[in-house]
Amino acid sequence: MNELAQQDYEPPLGPDLSSIEVVLETATAGKALFGKTEIPNSDFNVISAQTAKFRAKYFPFATDKQWNSWRWQIQNSYTNFIKLSEILDVSTIDDLDFLAKSKKLPLRITPYYASLFHGKPISYAIAKSVVPDKLELIVSPGEETDPLHEESMCPVDNLVHRYPDRVLMLSTGFCSVYCRYCTRTHMVEKDKKHYGVKAWEKSIDYIRNHPGVRDVVVSGGDPLTLPDKHLEFLLSSLRAIPHVEIIRIGSKVPMVLPQRITNTMVKMLKKYHPLYMSIHVTHPDEITPEATEACTRIADAGIVMGSQTVLLKGVNDNVETMKNLMHKLLKIRVKPYYIYQCDPIPGSSHFRTPVTKGLEIIQGLRGFTSGYAIPHFVIDAPGGGGKIPLIPEYYQGREGDNVILKNFEGKSFKYYDPVQIKSYS
Ligand code: SF4
Repeated sequence: MNELAQQDYEPPLGPDLSSIEVVLETATAGKALFGKTEIPNSDFNVISAQTAKFRAKYFPFATDKQWNSWRWQIQNSYTNFIKLSEILDVSTIDDLDFLAKSKKLPLRITPYYASLFHGKPISYAIAKSVVPDKLELIVSPGEETDPLHEESMCPVDNLVHRYPDRVLMLSTGFCSVYCRYCTRTHMVEKDKKHYGVKAWEKSIDYIRNHPGVRDVVVSGGDPLTLPDKHLEFLLSSLRAIPHVEIIRIGSKVPMVLPQRITNTMVKMLKKYHPLYMSIHVTHPDEITPEATEACTRIADAGIVMGSQTVLLKGVNDNVETMKNLMHKLLKIRVKPYYIYQCDPIPGSSHFRTPVTKGLEIIQGLRGFTSGYAIPHFVIDAPGGGGKIPLIPEYYQGREGDNVILKNFEGKSFKYYDPVQIKSYS
């Protein structure tokens, strides 16, 4: 057991900013609390022109040191609609007052991420993905709070064991930005039970006692919002289990809080290879100089990155946007991995596209760009069926000894595939 476990420290995760900061710093430093004026030095040092312009207008007193500190970014995040509306074009919102007063719509956006869409209407792609909308209050048929039935697949609290050889560990309920379409809206920013050494130990014990688990996904919430010391506790505990072959971290932080990807943290992560990272990416506008720096640091540490993108109406639901995104991801060394059909959480109908839209996008990529740029399109089956891949119909059936195939241009071809070969095995 390391020092953190010996303290038997179980920090409460409160919904308000100050308690989160107290939690982080108490966990990290033992006693010292982190005041709003005490910003430790950060080794992140990229501020793009677009972001600098936003900072000069809305945070004129923020120093480089503050802006580049992930803690400062969390402390100064937009958490209420009134403050947020100051940086948006709200002329198209018909009921501003309602949104300002509503407490049903949890909100958190870092100043950095806000800098990517300030001055835009809320229909602007990446704004739409994080800014509350009254449409979220319309609950449609088929929607439910835990559509993937993750809670019913938890043998111990906060550990989802759906597939035979891998588990999903929900390490925290906190994210630096709350996505409006999040599958885990039932747990993010809702309660205090996910975060802390005691909560994690049950999961770690379960994994230790199940030799069939060779792959652990650490997600949440967002595990990269944990302080280094807590993250290291988790990773070192998992790496100490002989049958855990790979560890995967699921995070949106490189896109919404790239300042968190410090050299110090990356150096720590490198100790726990083989380590993979699934980066939640929504739109090409997220691939900024800051996000590029964050991903470069992760890639240089030998951590293999794959992308996860939720298909969202009015945000990224067309071939050109997706192709642009996949190309930009490859340039920053992130392999396009999954496009997900948007899960039917309550109030998500304005985000969901027909399933055929995803197929159309895959069809628009395959053959028109490199195979490396093509992710899998999947539906995470409601009710806990797991990821089901969907592919356009390239296989058209058989004609005698031939298989009929359709290529990316819709042209048909025959592939000689005699029955005796087909019966091989
Ligand atoms: S970062 Fe992930 S877990 Fe957090 S709100 Fe967005 S989708 Fe949900």
